[in-house]
Amino acid sequence: MSVTLQGIGVSKGFAIGQVYIINRDPVEISEYALAKHEIEEEIARFETAIKTARLQLQHIRDRVPIDATVDIAAFIDAHLLMLEDSLLTRVPIDLIYEHQCNAEWALKMQCDSIVQIFDNMDDPYLSARKSDVVQVVTRIHRILCGIPDTKFEPAQNDLANAIVLADDLSPADTMLMQHHGILAFVTEYGGTTSHTAILARSLGIPAIVGMRRAVHYIKPNETVVVDGENGVILIAPDDRSLRYYRKRQYEDKRYRAALNKIKALPTKTREGTRIILQANIEFPEDMTAVKRVGGEGVGLYRTEFLFMNRETPPDEEEHFEAYSRVIQALKGNPVTIRTLDLGADKQFVDSRTHEGLSAINPALGLRAIRLCLKEPKFFKPQLRAILRASALGQVRMLIPMVCGLQELIQVHHLIEEIREELNQKSLKYDANMPFGVMVEVPAMAICCDLLAPYVDFLSVGTNDLIQYTLAIDRGNEAVNYLYDPVHPAVLRLIKMSIDAAQQAGKPISMCGEMASDSRYVKLLLGLGLRSFSVNPEAYLEVKQIINNSDLNNLVPLANKILKMSSQTEIADLLETINA
Ligand code: PEP
Ligand code: MG
Repeated sequence: MSVTLQGIGVSKGFAIGQVYIINRDPVEISEYALAKHEIEEEIARFETAIKTARLQLQHIRDRVPIDATVDIAAFIDAHLLMLEDSLLTRVPIDLIYEHQCNAEWALKMQCDSIVQIFDNMDDPYLSARKSDVVQVVTRIHRILCGIPDTKFEPAQNDLANAIVLADDLSPADTMLMQHHGILAFVTEYGGTTSHTAILARSLGIPAIVGMRRAVHYIKPNETVVVDGENGVILIAPDDRSLRYYRKRQYEDKRYRAALNKIKALPTKTREGTRIILQANIEFPEDMTAVKRVGGEGVGLYRTEFLFMNRETPPDEEEHFEAYSRVIQALKGNPVTIRTLDLGADKQFVDSRTHEGLSAINPALGLRAIRLCLKEPKFFKPQLRAILRASALGQVRMLIPMVCGLQELIQVHHLIEEIREELNQKSLKYDANMPFGVMVEVPAMAICCDLLAPYVDFLSVGTNDLIQYTLAIDRGNEAVNYLYDPVHPAVLRLIKMSIDAAQQAGKPISMCGEMASDSRYVKLLLGLGLRSFSVNPEAYLEVKQIINNSDLNNLVPLANKILKMSSQTEIADLLETINA
């Protein structure tokens, strides 16, 4: 009998295949002896790892849905309690002293002796506690080894043509998948505009997030259908369902092929207004997809992905090489290089220093420009590389998460410093390279009229603007129902930003996922948006909508929506506009 589970569809399309479940395996640790003078430092490293493990678990605990079964919270609480127990916090330190060995080894010795005690007690309850100990120890080992919380490394062959099912995937995990030829993925956690979901869309594979307890209902290798549009997974589909979904797959393919016909046409509304339509990318390799849809340029290059799945940060040459590849592929079209947006769900842990571990509330912490200004060792090589790349083509620099003028002034000072360095070395750069800011923190949108005069262009990042305006974690499926791009507060902030930029005579674009969503394109045109940067997968669909739009009709309708207080009424009118 077929069973259906419901989650949140975040990347359209249908996939039929067998399930591969991702488990978090134990970590390979090194065992080595220490010199006497290294012992105190090793103990400090161990204590930091324990603190980080507590933070990680508290963070997971905070994400347990209110209506979840009590067991989940209790399970995490049990792990948190173990992190207070001297068996795991004090005894390994004694072992480090006694054996003069590294922390990983000491912890392993202690874990082995606890496991042995459990093994000698033939009791099912106690044997369950044994696996809890092993899980907590694995967590500490991962931290000591600098392995991000959710990193996985499955064998390549296992993933080809598989439907990946995991409790959660970080953007770094999702990145690894692109080379494995997977058909779709499903996670138990995550929200519509989490970076994991965005990556799935740019990979062009169906994806569902927030499918609670899916791992409990689906067995490894079971055949399932993933409907990424409706967020539904069908377990053990019968012949009739399989026939239906194969037909949908075929229709989907035909629809995409038909869209190809508009590739060479200009992007222009019916009454003749030219609209700029560019693409969002995460890697130089994404340029293949941009070219395939005839993209006019890159409106958002998320450079922080250069930091994912590696132990040490990229140097200036690596940055420069990546940017050069994109510029070359663009053949004279512009690229907007966004400076690092590390932090929140895109963590980077430097294996040499173990710096960069997650805070309790990372989206409100040291993220993006805040982190860059605090850690110029990450930022300066990137700024140098962007400036040098600006000599090779049309480059614009975009700064994420800006809240106020002070940050802009600080960035300007750094750029000045780097220009001096480049001048001294007679290295070329574009002295007029446009400098822009993301409008993704409500403070920026509210003060747009004050700040627009200090920049050359603006770009609205709705993914974060919605998260921060409505106070909902974009990666948390439990509050996903509140994530509404047409909430009146969000629409007002978008309208304020567009108007302020136009008043200041500065171009404004939108690169958040709202611009890629077919439901909102007409509304955004009506609100005055004339430049979009979208996911390559959505590019032709958005273009088709723009080319079928008439601004004469849309402006009054958008004004009407701006006056509405009810989200249901807004949704109804939007449906009429899009019909
Ligand atoms: C945004 O916030 O809308 C945006 C484009 O940036 P990111 O999704 O990378 O945070
Ligand atoms: Mg953002």
